[in-house]
Amino acid sequence: MSDSAPTEHVLLTPGPTPLHPRAVAALLRPMLGHMDPEVFAINDEIQADLRTMYGTAPDTFTALLSGTGSLGMEAGFANLVESGDEVLVCVNGSFGARMAEMAERYGARVRVVTAPHGQAVRVEDVAAQLSGVQMVAVVHGETSTGVLNPVPEIAQLLRGTDTLLTVDAVTTAGMQPFDMQGWGVDYAYTGAQKCLSAPPGVAPVAISERALARFAARRTPTPLWYCDFEGLRDYWSRRAYHHTVPVNLHFAFHAALRAALDEGMTVRQRRVREMGAAIQTALAPLGFSPYVQREAERLPTVLALRLPEGFDDAGIRAALRRREISVTGGLGPTAGLIWRLGLMGEAARPAPYRALMTALEDLLG
Ligand code: PLP
Repeated sequence: MSDSAPTEHVLLTPGPTPLHPRAVAALLRPMLGHMDPEVFAINDEIQADLRTMYGTAPDTFTALLSGTGSLGMEAGFANLVESGDEVLVCVNGSFGARMAEMAERYGARVRVVTAPHGQAVRVEDVAAQLSGVQMVAVVHGETSTGVLNPVPEIAQLLRGTDTLLTVDAVTTAGMQPFDMQGWGVDYAYTGAQKCLSAPPGVAPVAISERALARFAARRTPTPLWYCDFEGLRDYWSRRAYHHTVPVNLHFAFHAALRAALDEGMTVRQRRVREMGAAIQTALAPLGFSPYVQREAERLPTVLALRLPEGFDDAGIRAALRRREISVTGGLGPTAGLIWRLGLMGEAARPAPYRALMTALEDLLG
């Protein structure tokens, strides 16, 4: 495999997404030191733009973690949970299950609210289990099944209580409505490579005042040194050395986030909706149908489609890959049952999906 002359590739997976051209250009900037004043100036802009993207209060602390979305998940539990805490986790897919496992590893007593795969978690089931809970954790858009969970309604249940709300915004923030302040979310994270079409490797987080107060009241130090909120604030607020941040990924992320805000959240939401409807209409005659039955529970950014009867899932995807088109199948229980078509960031464009349709019509005869 040559390390030069990359070929064109049609990337329709639910992450990573094709890089935004402005992110590509920014990646090629000459390297600067992680303590360089120009890098700190870029970081300040990233923090301000993240407040806009997440819809936070004006002074909410935002930052990039040096890692992928899973590190965003892990940092929330590492900093905000202590041994013996009761944590209620909504589990209706692989990423909810990952949250439950992480919370447990950080000493939480985990209660789980489940829903069948392909269905959203029910708000009344969450309400029924809230007594004595220090944190509720929920995946907004469950990538493994293409389900949108009712985050605003769950947040509403927690109004006026001391219970923190952690939200996995990996497939939503930057492309779907997200109102951290209005809803009352305490900790949110995503991955750069999802809705923003930046390279993987940084995880944007937003931490509410309430969450910082919970962190400040810890009885024990955060067990994960790398993402200790205090260390994060050393670098992002006090401009002190903590670790060598991936500077070129900061450049690319900064450019991609700016491009998203320039396009505008409303326009991006419409782009996803329109693309999703067009793809469903185009694939229906080939026998694909929505996997998530209730329309209101469909995650617009990850289109989960049930495969036609007798469809050779692995064979067709391998044939598409030979034509430089990447499509993702199901995960865990949905493997062989569905495709998950990515509509995040630059994937939600007509040209790559036209290429998929042309190839499918050819392959399926
Ligand atoms: N949460 C959700 C909803 C995801 O879709 C993913 C990745 O696909 C993750 C968490 C983990 O992110 P990463 O793979 O960037 O670590």
